[in-house]
Amino acid sequence: MLASVAVQVASVFKAPCQVRHEHLDVAFARDPIRKQYNSTAILQAMQPFVEPGARLLAVTSLDLYVPVLTFVFGEAQLSGACAVVSLHRLREEFYGLPARDDLMRERLVKEAVHELGHTFGLRHCDDWRCVMTSSHGVERLDVKGAGLCILCSRAVAAVR
Ligand SMILES: [Zn+2]
Ligand SMILES: [Zn+2]
Repeated sequence: MLASVAVQVASVFKAPCQVRHEHLDVAFARDPIRKQYNSTAILQAMQPFVEPGARLLAVTSLDLYVPVLTFVFGEAQLSGACAVVSLHRLREEFYGLPARDDLMRERLVKEAVHELGHTFGLRHCDDWRCVMTSSHGVERLDVKGAGLCILCSRAVAAVR
């Protein structure tokens, strides 16, 4: 699944994208009361894994949070090198529905492109079809596209 996500990410950003298998122990990021993992702390811990001039997107099945929100699908460093996305709430099973791998993959692509977009300096977009629009639920995630609108793609081209 990650290999096919990488192909789509590469085509959106017009940059090579490789899948790396790395293990990062994120026990330090776990909140024992929320039973979730602090995504900001994970982003910091990813820093040593970044190759010079590259961006690094972590994919995890753990449930992520930032203190002000009940959960996040992912988080990224704005104009930074690291981003993280979680499969946890992208799975239909999380909502008590039968598994749908195609839908989960589509959601993962959108989340991956969205978070990587932030690493290219993109902020949230007003165009509801653009992948950079903010989506706090899977309903919103499912309506938006997996690609960047013309303005967001121009902004990415300008920093690449
Ligand atoms: Zn965002
Ligand atoms: Zn946009």
